Amino acid sequence: MFDSLSDRLGGVFDKLRGRGALKEQDVRDAMREVRIALLEADVALPVVRRFVDQVTEKAIGQSVLRSVTPGQQVVKIVNDAIVEMLGGDTTPELDLNAAPPVVIMMVGLQGSGKTTSTAKIAKLLKEKQGKKAMMASLDVNRPAAQEQLKVLGEQVGVATLPIIPGQQPTEIATRAMQAAKLQAIDVLLLDTAGRLHVDQQLMDEMKAVAEISRPQETLLVVDSLTGQDAVNVAQSFAGEVELTGVVLTRMDGDARGGAALSMRAVTGKPIKFAGTGEKMDAIEVFHPSRVANRILGMGDVVSLVEKAAEAVKVEDAEALAKRMEQGKFDMNDLRMQLKQMQSMGGLGMLAGMMPGMKKAKAAMAASNMDDKVLVRMDAIIGSMTPKERTNPALLNAKRKIRVAKGSGTQVQDVNKLLKMHMEMSKAMKQIKKMGGLKGLAAMFGK
Ligand code: GDP
Repeated sequence: MFDSLSDRLGGVFDKLRGRGALKEQDVRDAMREVRIALLEADVALPVVRRFVDQVTEKAIGQSVLRSVTPGQQVVKIVNDAIVEMLGGDTTPELDLNAAPPVVIMMVGLQGSGKTTSTAKIAKLLKEKQGKKAMMASLDVNRPAAQEQLKVLGEQVGVATLPIIPGQQPTEIATRAMQAAKLQAIDVLLLDTAGRLHVDQQLMDEMKAVAEISRPQETLLVVDSLTGQDAVNVAQSFAGEVELTGVVLTRMDGDARGGAALSMRAVTGKPIKFAGTGEKMDAIEVFHPSRVANRILGMGDVVSLVEKAAEAVKVEDAEALAKRMEQGKFDMNDLRMQLKQMQSMGGLGMLAGMMPGMKKAKAAMAASNMDDKVLVRMDAIIGSMTPKERTNPALLNAKRKIRVAKGSGTQVQDVNKLLKMHMEMSKAMKQIKKMGGLKGLAAMFGK
């Protein structure tokens, strides 16, 4: 899914690649393309406007990380904005905290996948949460709609309310509530009638059913393939009933992706599930970041920028380089280096990037350095006095014992750290000879 949007944005960012900085004009050029791409992906116009404004503001204001290209950084900004629009990183869950039977009312147009989704969710609740579920079809318009739910219920092993021909939706709802109470049902799913178009009778019927059943969740089922139409549908439903979430079906198809973005913006409600096929287990909890990654198709770039942002802070590197220039590399500097290595997630990765650091890296490898070791080293430095940190030569045998005790380590661990510090100091001096500050900054930056 989302191929066209992904391709489009890919093209935009190619153009940006290789430029020195995120200039206002660059951002505006990129945003013009983003705007067209979103419109082509069937995102509703007001949503596009808001999105582009947000992203433009963020992108222009931001200082450029030197270790990534401006294009890569814009990808990250657009990615974050999409995730934010889709509801952030938290996974929206069904709220089932109410006295049983908790009612989930399913609403939507005919053919949106409402009946299918009802059975899929019932199956999820039964299998994943051990809930005793029951389903009832209130669709008296479409011939065989109630039969269809019955068949699906048999398929997923969830009870359905027995069909009594000739009953009205409100009568069925009342009967369903009674049956659910009698049978100690945890969750009752009501599959309401669909229509080909939104009309007032449908809305009134829905409201009457809501009045009777007091649903804890009202989920709007929308076909992601219907694009712009889906937005109009969502708007109509949201204006009439208190929606609590959206189910986006046919995400397995050739959806242009716009529906996902618009739906959240228009309803203000989280997309709780994504339908991904006709089979009964083809349903997923909706993950905004996963979808954004798929829209952009650039997950690796996003994580690269994230890493660069948190780990290789150019300012830190430059501060370090300056201190080296003055012939200083103390325990505080080493500590900073260790922190960076930790957040880069790589054993001695930073060291590996620096020529002349092979020896220090070998020393780290020899000490079997992993994350635990990094934490231990940090604790050792933490147990030193400020004076010892700036002048490690002070650490005589007695002091070493104190530091080891304080950090819950052995004296030999303290020695290992001191040895590593010495190797790194030596390497730093070598770098100084090779070109000093500029050389190092170039290595960190670019
Ligand atoms: P309703 O009229 O809204 O109740 O729609 P149905 O649940 O009867 O679904 C209409 C058709 O869409 C059926 O053939 C379903 O199998 C199919 N369908 C529903 N959800 C999905 C989905 O997520 N992906 C795909 N590929 N098909 C779906």
